[in-house]
Amino acid sequence: MKEIKLDVHTHTLASGHAYGTINEMIKEASNRNLDILGITEHGPGIPGACNPFYFFNIKVVPRMQYGVKLMLGAEINILDYKGTLDLKPEHIKHLDLRIAGIHFQCYKPRSIDENTTAIINAIKNPDIDIISHPDDGHCPLDYEAVVKAAKEYHTLLELNNNALRSSSRLNVAQNQETLMKLSMKYDVPMICGSDAHYMNDIANYTCIEPIIKKVNFPDKLIINYDSKKFEEYINENAKNRLYH
Ligand SMILES: [Zn+2]
Ligand SMILES: [Zn+2]
Repeated sequence: MKEIKLDVHTHTLASGHAYGTINEMIKEASNRNLDILGITEHGPGIPGACNPFYFFNIKVVPRMQYGVKLMLGAEINILDYKGTLDLKPEHIKHLDLRIAGIHFQCYKPRSIDENTTAIINAIKNPDIDIISHPDDGHCPLDYEAVVKAAKEYHTLLELNNNALRSSSRLNVAQNQETLMKLSMKYDVPMICGSDAHYMNDIANYTCIEPIIKKVNFPDKLIINYDSKKFEEYINENAKNRLYH
């Protein structure tokens, strides 16, 4: 892979099952020469995750430290096929970055149509920037419909490094390959996410790399190589948000 400039899917102590502090994470991001580090704590649907009140006060944290731009956000849970989220607009409006994803602690997979509707409704939500790990075969999705919606509603789909190492998920590599091929077909950028729960995993995309090589996924569709392009992408979304 080319030089990685950003990783915006990471967790700290605040998520309840991750182990670094914000300060430790940002120092490590600086050591790894990242331009941008995103810390996206789990929404309240995950056991031990932040109370929503956590997000009210994140303005106190300086956003530029050790030469790295810090974006504080959340990985918000999708709760049902309507795309209902587990953070309310009054919390979401404080975030620099909004990821939405399905986790089985608070979403029960149903038919492929219902799962696809859940994801597409989150994609359509103007508050959501990224969909995390849409790659678990336990929650089957119509990938063509998902990629087309991501293009239409300007939402990034994630290639999640952590999911590729998980023994509890199904067909992740195959599903990420399918997502990459469809992204090439429809010319839609994707974002790699480490999903780091400790400093050593920041910007670690080593499990995604072989799939990128296998399908010859073009550099121009990997947004992690260009922090300006990423910021423009997020700023474009900010214009359409419901709450400011
Ligand atoms: Zn987690
Ligand atoms: Zn997740």
